[in-house]
Amino acid sequence: MGKLVYIIVDGMADLPIKLLNNKTPLEYAYKPNISFFLKHAAYGFPSVLGKLAPQSDAGVMADLGYEPTKYSTGRGWFECLGLGMDPKDGELSVRVNFGEVKDKKLSSVRTYLSKEELRLLETEINDKVKLPVDFRFKIGEGYRAGVVFTPNKHQFSGYVSNNEPGYTPKFYKNGKKLSFATPIKDLKIHDIKPLRREAKYTAELLNLFIKNVIKVIKNSEVFISRAKDNKPLPNYLFLRDAAVRDPHLPAINEKFKRRWAAITGMPLEKGIASAAGIKLVEVEESQDINKDFSEKAESVASTMRSFDCVYLHIKQTDAVSHLGKYADKYAIIEAIDRIIIGRLLRELNIRGGDTLVMTCDHATSCELKRHINSNIPVLIVNRKFGQNKDFGEANCRKKHISAIRRATDILPFVVALK
Ligand SMILES: [Zn+2]
Repeated sequence: MGKLVYIIVDGMADLPIKLLNNKTPLEYAYKPNISFFLKHAAYGFPSVLGKLAPQSDAGVMADLGYEPTKYSTGRGWFECLGLGMDPKDGELSVRVNFGEVKDKKLSSVRTYLSKEELRLLETEINDKVKLPVDFRFKIGEGYRAGVVFTPNKHQFSGYVSNNEPGYTPKFYKNGKKLSFATPIKDLKIHDIKPLRREAKYTAELLNLFIKNVIKVIKNSEVFISRAKDNKPLPNYLFLRDAAVRDPHLPAINEKFKRRWAAITGMPLEKGIASAAGIKLVEVEESQDINKDFSEKAESVASTMRSFDCVYLHIKQTDAVSHLGKYADKYAIIEAIDRIIIGRLLRELNIRGGDTLVMTCDHATSCELKRHINSNIPVLIVNRKFGQNKDFGEANCRKKHISAIRRATDILPFVVALK
């Protein structure tokens, strides 16, 4: 086998949309460069997690060949690892959102802050919040952060609820944990609850953390100046997906006997890639999509020279799907075709044995504005295959490789190609 470029386009799959002539955004998008690759293409149409609508953590793990229900200890682990916080087995890693509460009711789970504001809050929280255990708090982008607590007298437990509404944890018999999107029933603010007796201490600590952090934030310059300017306030913390154990993903390089590199800007995907032992290539995230995609395409091209397999994650498609912006979604897919696939046309030698895979971690419906449990389209370009029809959900459903039943089957199939 030659080189493999593996592109995961976040939430790319969708349902047919009336205003797009009953096509999905992927089907509707003009994609001449992908069409060029269809001379040697086959399709997969696997499910990710059966009836459950996956979050990105489960989807990305599955796409990389790791059964989520066998490995996941909670998304918090990957988030904190991806933020560079180096969580250890036994520590408690949690994903954090800055949000806003008005009149004791949920107003927003996302208070967007500038990098400067986030940095100031990070320093204040790390310096001023006092707890019975040591902790480290680190900011991400916008409204996101992570926190890792180090145990002293008591062991931590991952059997706690989320106080971020809309994400409900599901625990498996083997002790593994995933969380799923669930409807928000009420706007009440809930404490974090222990879901097993052993988690009582952990839940109390997390509630104390939230309380103490809010006190510090409310006395911060950031808060006072935002209140003066009538801007949305970061007056509450929403926590989710606490993890206590290293998921111990078997190293991907060993598993598939290939050297892997990853190009992705978001902490979650960085964390999953790191946990799998994939070398992270530094890339700047740019708000300008043309610049972002051009830089990532160049990065794939140069990384291919020193690695066998390059995993590229594209995030933008999921964000617009959650906002219901289907026209933006197909425009982003067109930009992927124009900039990234166009660049790969010059770089990949399909006849010489290189392989291109393009898929997604889950389907996100623009009409429903949420993740759904639909199967995902998978494009596999390899010299073994002949001409295929337009890449989209309907064609993948019609004719797909039967060996790829689950998303976890994609990579074992692909690396066995010659
Ligand atoms: Zn996703």
